[in-house]
Formats: sequence, C-alpha cells, structure tokens
Amino acid sequence: MNKKVVSMVVAAALAATVAGCGSSGKTGTNTGTAPAAGSTSGGAAAAQPTIGVAIYKFDDTFMTGVRNAISAAAEGKAKVDIVDSQNSQPTQNDKVDLFITKKVNGLAINAVDRTAAGVIIDKAKGANIPVVFFNREPLADDMKKWDKVYYVGAKAEQSGTMSGQLVVDYFKSHPEADKNKDGALQYVMLKGEPGHQDAELRTKFSVKAVEDAGIKVEKLAEDTAMWDRVKGQEKMAAFLASHGDKIEAVFANNDDMALGAIEALKAKGYFKDNKYIPVVGVDATAPALKALEDGTMLGTVLNDAKNQGKATLNLAQVLASGQTPSKDNIGYELTDGKYVWVPYKKITKENMNDAK
Ligand code: BGC
Repeated sequence: MNKKVVSMVVAAALAATVAGCGSSGKTGTNTGTAPAAGSTSGGAAAAQPTIGVAIYKFDDTFMTGVRNAISAAAEGKAKVDIVDSQNSQPTQNDKVDLFITKKVNGLAINAVDRTAAGVIIDKAKGANIPVVFFNREPLADDMKKWDKVYYVGAKAEQSGTMSGQLVVDYFKSHPEADKNKDGALQYVMLKGEPGHQDAELRTKFSVKAVEDAGIKVEKLAEDTAMWDRVKGQEKMAAFLASHGDKIEAVFANNDDMALGAIEALKAKGYFKDNKYIPVVGVDATAPALKALEDGTMLGTVLNDAKNQGKATLNLAQVLASGQTPSKDNIGYELTDGKYVWVPYKKITKENMNDAK
C-alpha cells in the first residue's frame, strides 16, 4: 500500500518531469522554430530588408522632401519604418534602441545633434546593424569609428558659395543695388541651427564668395532663425527695425527663412512700386520656386532632396542586404569609401524648371 503510494508519487513526479521536459523541449523547439522563422523572414528580408529611419523632426520643409523621397525609393526594395525624433536627441536614441530591439536590418539616421552620432554608431556597432547618416554630417572622428558607417549629403560650402554668387551677379549688374554708393554690400544673415554644418558653412562661404568677387562687405546683423519660416520673419522684422533701408541684401541659410524674411519685407513696402532688395535662400522648395516666379526671391540653390533620399535608401538597402556598396549597386559615387555627395545647383527664375 505504502509502496503503491510511493510508486504513484514517483510516477506522478516522473510524469511531471517528463511533462516538464516535454514542455521545455517544446519551448526549445519553439525557440528553435522562432529563429528559423526569423531567418526565413530574414531570407525574405535579404530581398526586402527592413530599414529603421529616424528624421530629426518631421516638421521641417526640406526634410519632408527627403522623407518622401526615401519612401518612394523604398517601393519594392525595402520596408521602411520612418519615425519622428521630435528634435530631441534622447528621443532619437530611444527610437534607435527600439529599432535594434525590433532587429531591423539597417539604419538611416538624420541626427538631431550631429555631434551625438558617436552614441548611435556605438549602438549600431554593438548590434552589427549598418548605419547611413544623412543631411546632418557626423564629425570625421565618429565616421571612423566603424566600417559600416556612411553619410549621404551635399557639400555645404558649395551651397554657400553659390548663394553668394547669386548676390554678386545681381550687385554687379544692378548699380542701384549699392544704395548708399559706398562700393560695399551691407547685408543681413539669417542663420540655420548653430553647429549644423549647413548653417556654419553656408554663412561663411556666401560672404566669402562676395569678397572673392572683389566686393567689400559689411555685416549689419546676423541671427539664427533655426531653419524656420516664422522665426525668419520675426528676425527680419527686427533687422528692419534697427537697420531699415540700409540693408542691401538678405542671405538666408534656407528657403523657409528667406520666405519669412520676404514676408517681413513685404510688410515694410518691399516688392512693389520699384522697392526691391535681393533675398537668397537654399533648398529650392516648391514655395521658394513660387517666390522666384513672383520676383520676390532673387535666387536659391537646389538642395536635391530627391537624390539625397534615394541615395540614402539605396545605400541602406544594399548594406542591410549584406552587400558591399559600390556605384554599381547604389547608383551613386562613393567618396573615401563612405560618403555620397549630391551636387547643389544655382537656381534663378531662368532655370527654375531644373528644380521642379
Ligand atoms: C536644409 C534646411 C533644413 C536642414 C535640416 C538643410 O540642408 O537646407 O532647410 O532645415 O537641412 O537639417
């Protein structure tokens, strides 16, 4: 009887163990199946990899163009998961962590703070997920941290030089543009976000182009309007309040700020009854082309959102599929093995169709 009870207990215990084994075996099988399924979809992912894309903020006119270009280029090639970092680097870092948890095959990052790219590179490297930065260029030292780090962008100094040349051409062909006849150009500068390579270099090289053309310059005012149209309008209104009609030209690091400046100038009677001032921007966005057509904006520089988005996607897709990128498989020249440079182009009313 006792023996029977003992053997029943033993049997029950055995059954439990077996069941336990079975269930752990099952879990094992499931776990075994999971990576298999994962690698099956990973196999499918080789044809259609998943790419985690983080934009510094969705509410940016130019980046909206790049974002749309990435989505368009991804069709039939890759699955893109595009997120808004809401202009916060900690938020972006969290989004990157999430992409890594989701096991994306590649990352495309428009850093909020380009000097924080190193943190993202460390995360990507730890998970062995290749990363393509775009529009906000990481520092050279960070670019060297890992061989699976790339950058797609445009040479900021080139856009600065071009916007300076637009003003030079105008100044030389319109003697009346030198309002006080002192032979120098009195200008104001609307800067993008400080520290952004496009803000720093466009500011520097636009002025340099004027000086290089033999025209003396005098900076009446310079302030950041953070790439933003409303801020551009406010800052320009402030410049006008302190310098009024002494201002002979307006440089803006992007079209949104230039368009804001144009609004402030219109409020002061410009662009009618022969009251004119040259205003230049960068990007060649649709509203800027409209302003060129209307004659309020003198010129802009095409910042090729379409090709920057396409190059970013192509590069990320090739890397995410485990291939080595080259001009043949990404469709763009690679400089120093890790940079894709998309050229800028000067745009005025005459050639504005090139930017459409
Ligand atoms: C564009 C700006 C944009 C900025 C965002 C620049 O290249 O010209 O319009 O706001 O990138 O990073």
